[in-house]
Amino acid sequence: MSDSPQKVAVIGAGTMGNGIAHVFAQSGHNVTLVDVNSAALERAKSTIERNLERLVTKERITAQDKESALARLKTSTEMRGAVSDADLVVEAATERLDLKLQIFEQLDAAAPSHAILATNTSSISITKIAAATQRPDQVIGMHFMNPVPIMKLVEVIRGYDTSDATTEKVVTLSKQLRKTPVEVNDYPGFVANRILMPMINEAICSLHEGVAGVAEIDEVMKLGMAHPMGPLHLADFIGLDVCLSILKVLQDGFGQPKYAPCPLLVNMVTAGKLGVKSGEGFYTHEKGSKELRVSPAFA
Ligand code: NAD
Repeated sequence: MSDSPQKVAVIGAGTMGNGIAHVFAQSGHNVTLVDVNSAALERAKSTIERNLERLVTKERITAQDKESALARLKTSTEMRGAVSDADLVVEAATERLDLKLQIFEQLDAAAPSHAILATNTSSISITKIAAATQRPDQVIGMHFMNPVPIMKLVEVIRGYDTSDATTEKVVTLSKQLRKTPVEVNDYPGFVANRILMPMINEAICSLHEGVAGVAEIDEVMKLGMAHPMGPLHLADFIGLDVCLSILKVLQDGFGQPKYAPCPLLVNMVTAGKLGVKSGEGFYTHEKGSKELRVSPAFA
C-alpha cells in the first residue's frame, strides 16, 4: 500500500459501512462499497447523499465537494472484483465470526498482496480473523464509531501478528480522515465495548426487573452522568442484534456470568425488534420523524 491508499473497498453497506464509505469518499479516496444485498447498497447510497447534502446545508462542504465525493463512490455486489485493485479493505459486514472468517479468506485470495485488510468488528478477535489469511501482519481492527461521519474515535486494534508498519499506516490514515485513532490490544470487546456493553446490558436488566421505565433509565444516565444519549436509546442506534452478538463474545471470551445477555435483549432480537434498523426497539423509529417515543411494548 502506498502511504495513502487510493483505492478502498468497504465490505457491508449497513449502519456502519455506509458511514465508512462516506468518510473515505469525502476525504478523497476512491471507494467501492460492497454488499450481498443490492437493496442495502441502494439504501446506503441515498443515506450518503443525504448526509453529504446536510453538510452542504451547514456550509461545512461545498456542493462541488459533495458531487466529487459521490463521483468517487461505486457500489458492487461482487466482492472479488471490487477488491482486486484495492490498497485497503475495510470489512463492516454482519457481526458473526463464521461470516468474517469466510470473508477474510476470500479477501486474502482476491486482494493485492500489498493490501491491508481491516475489520470494523465491535468485539471479535482480530487474531482469529487474521488467522483466516496468509497475511496476519497486514490484518488490523479499524473500529469506527456510530454515526461514522460525526464520531471522532477510531479504535485501532492490533492482532497478535499485526506489524508496526500496518499499525502506523492505519493510524496515519485515520488522522487523514480527521479522526482520532487510539491504539488498543486484542482482547474481547477491546476497550469501547468491554465497558459500554455491560452498561447497556445493565440498563436492559434494570428495565426487565421493573426498576424504572425506558425514558426514566435514559434520563438518569443523561442528566446524572452527562451522557449525550441514554443507554437504551444508544442500544437502538447500535442495533440490538449487534449488542447481543458483542455480549456473547464477551461472555465466551471471559467466561464470566456478568456478561450474560439480559433475557429481554435476547427476546427482542428473536422478535425482530432491532432498534433503528427495524423501526422499533426500546423506542419507535419512524422514517423522517425526530420525535422519540417509547415503544408500545414498554409504554
Ligand atoms: P448491519 O446489520 O447494519 O449491516 C451489515 C451488512 O453486511 C448488511 O447490509 C449485510 O447485507 C451485509 N453483509 C452480510 N454478509 C455479507 C457478505 N458476505 N458480503 C458483503 N456484505 C455482507 O451491521 P452494522 O451495524 O453496520 O455492523 C457492521 C460491523 O460493524 C459489525 O462487525 C459490527 O459489530 C460493527 N460495528 C457496529 C457498530 C454499530 O453501532 N452498529 C459500531 C461499531 C462497529
